[in-house]
Amino acid sequence: MDFHKIYPRSFSSLNGLTYGLVRTSNGKKLVVMGENDPVLADPFKGECHRHTSTLKVCDLSAENTECLMTLFPYTKPTSLRKHSITIGTGDRLGLATPGHIRAIQKFQVRPVLAQQSVRENTQTGRNFTEVIKDAAWAVFQENYQDGYGADGDHLKSIQEVRNALDAGVSMVTLDLSEKLNLTAFQYSTEVVDLKFKEEIDEEDAKVLFHLFLNKEFPFKIPHGGFSIQFDEESLKRNVLLFHKAIDFTEEVYKFILSRSGGRASIDFEISIDETPFPTSPENHLFFMIELNYRGIHIDSLAPRFIGEFQKGINYRGDLQDFREQFYQHAMIAQDFGNYKISIHSGSDKFSVFPMIGEMAKKGLHLKTAGTSWLEAMRLIALINPSLYREMHRFALSIFKEASKLYHVSTDLDRIPKIETLQDQELPSFLEQEDARQLLHITYGYLLNAKDKNGKDLFRDRFFQTMSKYEEDYWSLLERHIEKHLNSLGVEKNPHLPC
Ligand code: ZN
Repeated sequence: MDFHKIYPRSFSSLNGLTYGLVRTSNGKKLVVMGENDPVLADPFKGECHRHTSTLKVCDLSAENTECLMTLFPYTKPTSLRKHSITIGTGDRLGLATPGHIRAIQKFQVRPVLAQQSVRENTQTGRNFTEVIKDAAWAVFQENYQDGYGADGDHLKSIQEVRNALDAGVSMVTLDLSEKLNLTAFQYSTEVVDLKFKEEIDEEDAKVLFHLFLNKEFPFKIPHGGFSIQFDEESLKRNVLLFHKAIDFTEEVYKFILSRSGGRASIDFEISIDETPFPTSPENHLFFMIELNYRGIHIDSLAPRFIGEFQKGINYRGDLQDFREQFYQHAMIAQDFGNYKISIHSGSDKFSVFPMIGEMAKKGLHLKTAGTSWLEAMRLIALINPSLYREMHRFALSIFKEASKLYHVSTDLDRIPKIETLQDQELPSFLEQEDARQLLHITYGYLLNAKDKNGKDLFRDRFFQTMSKYEEDYWSLLERHIEKHLNSLGVEKNPHLPC
């Protein structure tokens, strides 16, 4: 058995045995070392090499992951409800998490290290169980004992919620976009009245009028505050927009409670960010009053903000308008349940991070994912320029199809022609917004591309390069996530690990 590399932070002793991670020619393995009998009694499944003492070499299998979580409970995902600032660091490749941990450890923040949506898993050919398994071993590798979350992101049905819970997520993000009536704010006044009559029964209507009409909802007045009021028409529009989504939320909430024996263990996020129009503070307030009325507690809400939060690039829009509305969202969140404002497509929004960090100190969750994939492409550009060139050209060829899945405003004409660039200039593509989006949205196509004989075009070479240069990848990620947390103004961790 030859070890190509050992992961020193992972080595720890428990019950007289030593555990640690190593890399062999067959990939990463767990080793268990100690006296013969205790090693044989140890629950991990593996191959024993007996000398005077015993060395057991174990696969990072699903079964062994369960043992890991039992023996080292900090490797099991946990609720991060009590932490006011959290960051989701989606790891699409299952390779990025050690870099994420190295960055977040320096700050007073907790990470959701396992965070994937069903859409992402479809593109990468993974499932929630594998995503959590990869995160758990990375947590063990880095000896990160502060606790991390696992988020089933953008779940749209009870079945998807069930699958995620079965896999062991500690957080559910329920995506309501398919349950919202997106035309409710476009109806004429007559149609609003008609639809309201059709869809809402009289008793419910009475309750709604009582809850909302002839009331002022003040926030922080007179200290630079604001207030929100509903007239009958705006109330009816909000009801039409949300009522099916609220029923669905209640159904899922009860399902989660029934599965988790109380809400304590699962963080519950609602996402309404993938809608064609921004969530106004009035929409937000309406939705939360309704949830509170029904006794539904959430831990975070992802509105769609004004301006544009496109994947992997900076914020686009008016900064002053953003500040004003974000402040209102943050105030509503504080006063109506003290939940976090969740920022989706949260990577690389450096122009708005300082104000977000300042206004949402009491509750903020930032989701990133694609940006870590882009750092992987940066590594490929740095280390393996010819592979980068092939992947870049392929991405261009497939862009049109990929762009159907994402909201981006990429202009391929603004991307420099790759033939004109020297190898050492290739990483500059990762600084150019159009090229970033090109690479961002084509990740699934790149990972799954096949030649005419059905062989993977890039996958093997890509993963070989990534694992050979994993420390370089983690350094890039550490720097990049650190930049996000610094920009948000998150406080440093006074007890830095050495
Ligand atoms: Zn989202």
